[in-house]
Amino acid sequence: MLVNRSPFPVLYKMHKKQTRSKQKQMVKDMDMAGDRREDVVIVGGGISGLATALALYRKGIRSLVLEKSKTLQATGGIIVHSNGWRALEQLGVASYLRQTADPILSGQFSSLDNGKQEEIPIWKEEMRCVRRTDLVNILAQNLPLETVRYGCNVLSIELDPVTSYPVLQLQNGTTLNAKVVIGCDGVNSKITNLTGAKAPNRLNVIGVRSFTIYPNGHKFGSEFKMIRKGDVTVGVIPMTTNQVHWFITRKYLSQEGFKISKSPKLIMNFSTESVKDFPSSVKEMVNNCWLECLHFSEYIKYRSPWNILCTHFRVGTVTVAGDALHAMTPFIAQGGSAALEDAVVLARCFARKAVVGGPGEIGSKLMVEKAFDEYLKERKTRLLRLTFESTLLGKMEETSSKLIKLLCIVLMVVLFRDLFAHTRYDCGKL
Ligand SMILES: Cc1cc2nc3c(=O)[nH]c(=O)nc-3n(C[C@H](O)[C@H](O)[C@H](O)COP(=O)(O)OP(=O)(O)OC[C@H]3O[C@@H](n4cnc5c(N)ncnc54)[C@H](O)[C@@H]3O)c2cc1C
Repeated sequence: MLVNRSPFPVLYKMHKKQTRSKQKQMVKDMDMAGDRREDVVIVGGGISGLATALALYRKGIRSLVLEKSKTLQATGGIIVHSNGWRALEQLGVASYLRQTADPILSGQFSSLDNGKQEEIPIWKEEMRCVRRTDLVNILAQNLPLETVRYGCNVLSIELDPVTSYPVLQLQNGTTLNAKVVIGCDGVNSKITNLTGAKAPNRLNVIGVRSFTIYPNGHKFGSEFKMIRKGDVTVGVIPMTTNQVHWFITRKYLSQEGFKISKSPKLIMNFSTESVKDFPSSVKEMVNNCWLECLHFSEYIKYRSPWNILCTHFRVGTVTVAGDALHAMTPFIAQGGSAALEDAVVLARCFARKAVVGGPGEIGSKLMVEKAFDEYLKERKTRLLRLTFESTLLGKMEETSSKLIKLLCIVLMVVLFRDLFAHTRYDCGKL
């Protein structure tokens, strides 16, 4: 039997109630504050913003995270590879998260078009799928109280013409002067725009993800499954013995995507229609998913490796991290883990180069700029590889041209023969 309710309804409601009243107070504080001055401001309280705030905090640097939503935004599950676990260890939250998600021990790809089955050799590396809420909650819980301000939508950012320090305009009318701004505001980042980066590309592929609860246990074992039929790919990733995260990717064919994205019922219809020719275990999983966690991406947005290579993602003392820096297609499931790596590297460079005197005391503008340049230099080498590989896989998913597909396959074989090399990266000590 399957249910589509929260597995921890009472705890979840209590937590929501407590955080809501705390958040109301914080939003009120912000409203009353008028113009303000802060040292380090992080825009966006997703995985990247919270991990960056925590990494800085572990190095003795306090920051203020501005999140536009009224609560932490996180739906469904997220695959975390070995490289992500190394970063989580540096942040001090890996052992807690390991208790919430079982390791995935094997993987299998099957094509329903030609009956082909292949093993995906993932057992060599640590791979677990954690609930996004568990991840963002544990990051937030490790931060000092009032680090995250909810309901703070940043409308714009500019550099003060006199001091060259960043000035943020918030929707509630507040102006915030900061010494340092780190944009972790996702793929449509306003902060990235300031750096002169081009808008991310769009892949004509729709992505849906959610998870399903099986109170009496599921039958997928600890195996990650990828099943393809026509232009539909379904991924099934067990999280625990009774929770399964899944995703569907499908070529974008009609102009209906925008309409679908606005209605959970239409997303559900789209999902069930997409898997109608799949095995009954997949259909059952999709039909009984936890509706609150159904997430739909109309287009998948990504930055090409050339874009990463050619853009200097820093202006003065403003830089970016996470999807704001390196949105990538989800086909190697590395966007989130790469954001965790960013956090560790950024905090390390910042503490080494931009802090003077007492703990957490920010040095001159030049010192901050040098710290951010060092961070970006270190990250670019890593991100070039990740974005290249994920772009190639995305193109293979999107294209109908046999020639382009062949070219992508050749490049994959030449450059990325070892499919799991990207998981062996170590971002180093915090
Ligand atoms: C279908 C799909 C499946 C994926 N699967 C995986 C996976 O298995 N493993 C993996 O590692 N990655 C995966 N990813 C990628 C991963 O989800 C992202 O890389 C990750 O969530 C990026 O986190 P972020 O914090 O940078 O951005 P976001 O999660 O987008 O967070 C940005 C935050 O900033 C806030 N914000 C935005 N604008 C403003 C503003 N103006 N003012 C204040 N706040 C603002 C938002 O409300 C949000 O909370 C997947 C992506 C997709 C689309």
